[in-house]
Amino acid sequence: MKKVIVIGAGILGASTAYHLAKSGAEILLIDRNDEGQATDAAAGIICPWLSQRRNQDWYQLAKAGARYYPQLIAELEQDGETETGYAQTGALSIHKDQDKISKMAERAKLRREDAPEIGAITCLNEKETRERFPLLGEGYSSVHISGAARVDGRALRDALIRSAQRHGARLIEGEAELLYEGEQVNGVQVQTERYMADMVVVCAGAWANEMMEPLGVHFKVHYQKAQIVHLRATNQENTSQWPVIMPPSDQYLLAFADQKMVVGATHENDVEGYDTRITAGGMQEVLNKGLELAPDLANCTLDEVRVGFRPFTPGFLPVMGQVPGWSGLITANGLGASGLTMGPYIGGQLARLALDLEPEINIEAYNVSKAIEMSVQ
Ligand code: FAD
Repeated sequence: MKKVIVIGAGILGASTAYHLAKSGAEILLIDRNDEGQATDAAAGIICPWLSQRRNQDWYQLAKAGARYYPQLIAELEQDGETETGYAQTGALSIHKDQDKISKMAERAKLRREDAPEIGAITCLNEKETRERFPLLGEGYSSVHISGAARVDGRALRDALIRSAQRHGARLIEGEAELLYEGEQVNGVQVQTERYMADMVVVCAGAWANEMMEPLGVHFKVHYQKAQIVHLRATNQENTSQWPVIMPPSDQYLLAFADQKMVVGATHENDVEGYDTRITAGGMQEVLNKGLELAPDLANCTLDEVRVGFRPFTPGFLPVMGQVPGWSGLITANGLGASGLTMGPYIGGQLARLALDLEPEINIEAYNVSKAIEMSVQ
């Protein structure tokens, strides 16, 4: 049985471990529980089809990720994991300009030609829009995308880990350091304990570069801090099926069961170190933009603020595959602002690579060498 160690138990590592354990591999999953884990803070929007990003390689990955969700959720349910916060609630892409609404609907229809999972595309007037999301401010019409979904990143991560454990995976908490001989990575050290493996998969998000440095590999991962607010709309009912709200700005609003509203998020570049503080400026930005969108949020209870680091690789395009110059070592990173959408799918592909199986997609476009600089040792 192949022995594989997975480092990092965010959405990517959890999914990789899940797929590997289900395939019968012997799995050790190691996580350091860093404050600022992206998965733990993520909003949970699964709706890549309306994105204006032109990069086709990015879009293909995001599309495949969204398409994979219903299958994954069904498999987890068969495994007894029903608490993932996943629901195909649909999304409302809102605007005050009718022309923009028509253009969005057209773009969605074009994209549906090779992504039928987008589902029904319906233009809604202001009244219909507010019926779907009663807290929304005045003046917005929308395009409703029925195939869009939302998920609770924390709950899905935990469900994947539990299911992996049920299939024999072990989870340990601690800081993993790579062990190697020549150009072969052959295991991991956690404190004084050494664990040997046939393959090591690094899914360390914003912290991945520090792991690779001892190998003389500079992994060009940078990160963006995000602060996101959780509110409770105590005067609303049946919020669990409310759609995701996607405004024209970089903000968003989504609802979960039990009156939970998630408003986000900041996009903070150039932060000093792994600064997980909740800042006055961050809160001002998120709440100002959120309340402008939905003024009635002002009456909500502020439940919690989460902070996470979105990991990015050059060109804002994820990478995945073997680390050049090394055997026994594969990785993926750079899932950025769409990692909940793509992470479960990419984890499945990493598992295939670790088992020497062909990935389902051509991964050349995501070659890890694009994010690597080697230094002479
Ligand atoms: P992470 O989740 O950060 O996990 C990395 C893990 O590696 C951490 O647990 C860390 O402790 C561990 N680690 C690091 N170094 C070591 C070590 N040496 N030893 C052991 N463990 C180690 N995506 C969407 O698709 N939709 C959204 O709506 C969405 N909203 C978001 C909102 C916010 C506020 C944020 C921050 C992100 C959002 N994202 C969203 C993006 C998504 O959350 C990320 O792209 C994704 O979670 C990245 O997952 P990851 O597993 O690569 O990294």
